[in-house]
Amino acid sequence: MELYSINTGHFKLDGGAMFGVVPKSIWQKVNPADENNMCSWAMRCLLVKDGNRLILIDNGMGNKQDDKFFGYYFLHGNDTLDLSLAKHGFHRDDITDVFLTHLHFDHCGGSISYNADRTKLEPTFKNAIYWCNEKHWDWAVNPNPREKASFLKENIIPIKESGQLHYLASGKDFMPGFSVYEANGHTEAMMLPLLNYKNTTVAFLADLIPSAGHIPMPYVMGYDVRPLDTMKEKEYILSQAAKNNWTLFFEHDPIIECCTVANTERGIRMDKSFALKEL
Ligand SMILES: [Zn+2]
Repeated sequence: MELYSINTGHFKLDGGAMFGVVPKSIWQKVNPADENNMCSWAMRCLLVKDGNRLILIDNGMGNKQDDKFFGYYFLHGNDTLDLSLAKHGFHRDDITDVFLTHLHFDHCGGSISYNADRTKLEPTFKNAIYWCNEKHWDWAVNPNPREKASFLKENIIPIKESGQLHYLASGKDFMPGFSVYEANGHTEAMMLPLLNYKNTTVAFLADLIPSAGHIPMPYVMGYDVRPLDTMKEKEYILSQAAKNNWTLFFEHDPIIECCTVANTERGIRMDKSFALKEL
């Protein structure tokens, strides 16, 4: 198995919403906010090459919404999905599987694109199977009022219409060396990949622990639908990671790609940070 970090660009979200009950006087030391209280976040995906399969885990926010939308989320930086794939010698048409942790726009928006003359929405990855699970799919297509702004129909419905959507059964490994941890605190049935790689486990944390700044227990995003469940899920993942020297991979940390964690007097904290390619 080979792994590649694929940054699809940075965007901005309100710092207060990202850190929940933690006051700004504390979180701003690690994640400084701009004059509008917004912090910059990566949309860092993971590419898994295994035999003939090329699996892309999440795909960023895409580019099909209008200027008003992008004015609100401030897509910025030089990284794009296509450029990041090309850096490693790959093209979007090479992708055989798109693994979606969940269907919030900053994780699945790259799934669907406009055709050349912007008249039709179509799958960005024409040769890929798109993987979700039935519980999360049903949750996303009938959204609750809290998450409605995150589940955008144009990102989701065309996946099913394309015939390329498959459901992964709950509790099943995706493939040998690629198991899935189901988390229900951020949203219903988010799927977190756990990958056996170079004698370690790489945990793709999506929105359970979106950045290194979210490792301490009270740092739970204001977006989460079940924050107490998030805390239990963090506790489980972080204790496993500390005990077994896992590598945590952050989708949203603006700078840090990966880290290990260790037990300290104050709880589990970051130990070493590094880029995925240093593993
Ligand atoms: Zn999310």
